[in-house]
Amino acid sequence: MQFPQALESVLQTLERMRAESAHRPCASRRALEALNRVAPSHSAESISESRTSVMEQHSPPVAPERSEGGSCPKNLGGPSRTGIDSAAPSKHQNVEKLGAVNERVCVCVKCPNLARSRTQTVFGVGNPDADLMFVGEAPGADEDAQGEPFVGRAGQLLTKIVRAMGFAREDVYIANILKCRPDTPGSSYGNRPPTPREMQTCRPYLIEQIDIIRPKVIVALGAVAVEGLLGTRAPMRELRGRWDSFNGTPLMVTYHPAYLLRNQSPSEKRKVWEDMMLVLERLEKPISEKQRNYFL
Ligand code: SF4
Repeated sequence: MQFPQALESVLQTLERMRAESAHRPCASRRALEALNRVAPSHSAESISESRTSVMEQHSPPVAPERSEGGSCPKNLGGPSRTGIDSAAPSKHQNVEKLGAVNERVCVCVKCPNLARSRTQTVFGVGNPDADLMFVGEAPGADEDAQGEPFVGRAGQLLTKIVRAMGFAREDVYIANILKCRPDTPGSSYGNRPPTPREMQTCRPYLIEQIDIIRPKVIVALGAVAVEGLLGTRAPMRELRGRWDSFNGTPLMVTYHPAYLLRNQSPSEKRKVWEDMMLVLERLEKPISEKQRNYFL
């Protein structure tokens, strides 16, 4: 397909989204500028006119640049990521509800230092109607760059755990206590744990996510996630492997995958897997012999 036809097709899709969707399309200023630069001269005028007609009513959703709060990634779960179809109204409703929360999150500046330093907010990803929800602590550098939680090495290990449980990553929902990467002043690399104040400030967004998704089981990954969810501070050896409750939803505490990357001890990995088998039992999922003997 030639560029003008391709662009025309994009514009038609945007027009259709504007007409049909409660959540209107938005594009970053940078993307629009890039589009302007590559538009061929012979069609630039008509393209520009069409583009203006699509975007002119949407100036508020135009994602601000990094220093103004970052862009608004759409990794919420939804038809394109989860295979949800029109025959699943509750999933569609949850996509809409999560989208509404995400629209507030992506322009949130309640933690001014994090809003200034983030590349983008990292809302959550997966099935908006999931039975199983994983909660970690905060985005790291990889997540900040990609706008999706658990995409670095720890994320790859989490995906491996999820698959070993018999799920696809898209079957579960994954989120963090914090939606912005904790800043590391003076250093462009490395991560730091969120402060109690940051967790307290961001926690209401997570509660909204949980209230919308209504998972049957929540898994808290690591001590920071436990502190963010339950307000409990204790060594992980005392917390993990037992059931707690978050507003009536069963909550299993286990080690963060990053801990398993630091500590390659088979016994520690086995503990996480035993925690996951408890989760499978709680979800009333059959556990095969192979799974019972599995080691991460
Ligand atoms: S961490 Fe949460 S509360 Fe703080 S600025 Fe980011 S989205 Fe807002």
